[in-house]
Amino acid sequence: MTYSYTQISQYLSCPRRYRHRYLDGWQEKDTRAAMLFGRAFEQAIAALFRQEDPAVVLYEQWSQSKDAGLSYSANDTWDGMLQQGIQLLERFVQDGRVRIPHPRLDQQVQFRRVLGPGNDFVAYVDAIGELDGTRCVLEWKTSSARYPEEPAGICSLDPQLVCYSWMTGINEVAQVVFVRKRQVEVQYLRATISEQHQREFASLVQNTVLRIESGLFLPHSGIRFPQNPCTTCPFIGLCLDQSELVETALVHKPGVDLGMFDELAF
Ligand code: SF4
Repeated sequence: MTYSYTQISQYLSCPRRYRHRYLDGWQEKDTRAAMLFGRAFEQAIAALFRQEDPAVVLYEQWSQSKDAGLSYSANDTWDGMLQQGIQLLERFVQDGRVRIPHPRLDQQVQFRRVLGPGNDFVAYVDAIGELDGTRCVLEWKTSSARYPEEPAGICSLDPQLVCYSWMTGINEVAQVVFVRKRQVEVQYLRATISEQHQREFASLVQNTVLRIESGLFLPHSGIRFPQNPCTTCPFIGLCLDQSELVETALVHKPGVDLGMFDELAF
C-alpha cells in the first residue's frame, strides 16, 4: 500500500473520514473555486521558473474551470480571482527572493520511502530551491487569509512541512503564501525542522499505518469549537445518512484510489 501525507492527515482528523474516502471510494466533487484556483496558480508559478509567461499559463489553466459550476466563497468571482492571481505573480517577481536553479528537475519532485514490507510513503514536494540565498524545501500555498507568523518559528510546527523535511532530509523549509485579499500579499515563512521532529513524524506515520491496517475507523466527530470537524466535512451526508447531502457534495468512484491527485493539490 502506498501512503501519503494527505491520507495520514485525513485519518488523524477523523478515521471514519479516511474510510469514506480511501476504502469506500467517495470523493468530494471538484467544484471548490479556491482549490481549483490554487492548482492553476501553482502551474503558473512552475511556468515562471521555466522562463515561460506565468500570466498566460494562469489564464489557460484557470479558464479550464470557468464553466465547471464552481462554488465561490465570500466575494470571489472568476474574474476577480484571475486579477488577484496576476497581481500576486507580479508581486512575487518584484520581490525576487526565491530562486530555483534547476526548475525542470526541482519542481513537483517525487520522494518515496519504504515503511515496511508491502508499504511505502510518497510525497510530492512543490520545489527545492533557495529563499534569500538559503537552500530549502519550498511549498506554495494560495489562501484568502494570512498565515500566522508569531511566535517566531511557528511554521516549524506545520505537519506538512515536517513531512517534507523528513522525506527530503533537508532541514530548512519555507512556505510561500500567496494571499488573495483586497491588497494582495506574499508571505515568506521560513523554519528549521529538527531531526527530532522528523523522527517523531516518522513514528506518527508508522503508528497511523498500524491503526489503519488494524481496521480502526471509529469517528472523531464534533460540531462545537474547537473540535468541530463535522461542520466542514464533505462526508457529513454519509454519516447522517442523508442522500441529498451526499449527491450535492460527493461522487462515488469504487476501486482502489490512493488519492495521489489530492496529494498534488494540497
Ligand atoms: S462528518 Fe464528522 S464523523 Fe463523519 S466523517 Fe466527517 S468528521 Fe468524521
